[in-house]
Amino acid sequence: MGFTNYHGHTYYCDGKGTPAEYLEAALQQQMPAYGFSSHAPLPYDIAWTMKAEEADAYVREIKALRTGLQHSIEIYLGMEVDYIPHVAGPGHERIQRLGLDYTIGSVHFVDFFEDDRPWEIDGTHQVFMEGLQQIFKGDIRQAIERYYALIRQMITEDPPHIIGHLDKIKIQSEEGKLFSEKEDWYQHAVEQTLQLIKESGLIVEVNTRGIYKKKSTETYPSPPILKRMKALDIPIMLNADAHHPREITSCFEETAELLLKIGYTHCRVLLQGQWQDIKLTTKGLDYA
Ligand SMILES: [Zn+2]
Ligand SMILES: [Zn+2]
Repeated sequence: MGFTNYHGHTYYCDGKGTPAEYLEAALQQQMPAYGFSSHAPLPYDIAWTMKAEEADAYVREIKALRTGLQHSIEIYLGMEVDYIPHVAGPGHERIQRLGLDYTIGSVHFVDFFEDDRPWEIDGTHQVFMEGLQQIFKGDIRQAIERYYALIRQMITEDPPHIIGHLDKIKIQSEEGKLFSEKEDWYQHAVEQTLQLIKESGLIVEVNTRGIYKKKSTETYPSPPILKRMKALDIPIMLNADAHHPREITSCFEETAELLLKIGYTHCRVLLQGQWQDIKLTTKGLDYA
C-alpha cells in the first residue's frame, strides 16, 4: 500500500530539492512508483521552467537514479509541458527527442500581451488582471472560454498523457469575485471539454496543490467537475504537484476519501511500463 505521485517538480525548474531527495521521500512512503515532471523548457524567459540547455541533464539525472539503486520502486521520467499553439506542446520536437515516459499537458498561458509576452493565468493576480484588460478588454467570460478552448485544442492537436490541473484558472476568482463556477456559460465550457476528454480517453489528474498551498479550498478540478467526470467514466490520477519532497502526498488521504465518496474506485497509474487501473483506498492504492 502507498500512494503514487506523477506530478512533481525538482531543482531543474521551480521545485526545491534534487531528484534523489524526492526519491528518498517516495521510498519512505512505500510508493510503488514515482514520476518526475519538472516544467519543460519554453522559448521565453520564464523563471519557473527548466532552461532548454538543462533538459538533457534532467533526463540523465533521473535515468541514473533508476540504474543506481536496487530499489523496490519504479521511476518514471516525465515533464509538465505547456501547451501554446504553434509554440509549445507535448508533441514538439524539443520534447519528443527526450524520450519521456509520459507528459502532463497544462495550460498556464492564454494568448499574448501586445508586446508578445504570453499571458500567464496562474501567476500573480496583478498579471492576470493586466492580461484580462489588455487581451480580453476585461471580459472574464471570454478569457475563461478561451482557456478551456485551448485545453480542447491541446487534446485534439497535441495530446499529453495526463491533463494537468484542469480548472486552475478558478484561483483568480477568489470567492467567485470575477465569475461563479455555477454560471451556465462556465459549466458549458467545462462540459464541452469533458466530452472531448471522454472521447480522447485521456487521464485527468486530481491535483491537491491548491489545497495545501491554501490557494483554493478544493482540488483541481472542483468536486462538481469530478462528479461529472465520474458519470462520464473519465480516468483519474491523484497527483500532488509537489515542489518540495515533503509535499509528494499532501492532502492525499482526504482527497482519496472525497473521490471514493464521488464513486471513483480506481486510479490510472503507470506501473511496469503500462497504464493500469489500481484500486483506490484512503491509505493508498491497493496493488493486491
Ligand atoms: Zn502547472
Ligand atoms: Zn506542476
